[in-house]
Amino acid sequence: MEKTKQGFECVLCKEWSLGWGENYQYGNNPQPLAEGQCCKLCDETKVIPARIKEYQNQSIKAKGFKKFQVSLTKFPKTYEVYAKTEEEAIEKVRDKCGFSVWDSEAEEIDF
Ligand SMILES: [Zn+2]
Repeated sequence: MEKTKQGFECVLCKEWSLGWGENYQYGNNPQPLAEGQCCKLCDETKVIPARIKEYQNQSIKAKGFKKFQVSLTKFPKTYEVYAKTEEEAIEKVRDKCGFSVWDSEAEEIDF
């Protein structure tokens, strides 16, 4: 009888890994990043942060907030802010930086 190969391939890092079960074939659930199984390291470093981010995005959306990118013409830097309107987004960046609102441009991002 052929011996079953033990473990599984992580869908995220493609490394062979040992999980649970008779043949160590069960890994962690990689949702929302992928379908299948992922290793413990990917679960801790990629999947859990992604879930936290997804949860935060959902609660931000629930508040009616959108994500805006505000870039300041004076400086080569773009800020990501959550606000209800473009004006509010620019206002938030302006407050943070102390620059004139006239020098800012905002762009809405879908996420
Ligand atoms: Zn992995």
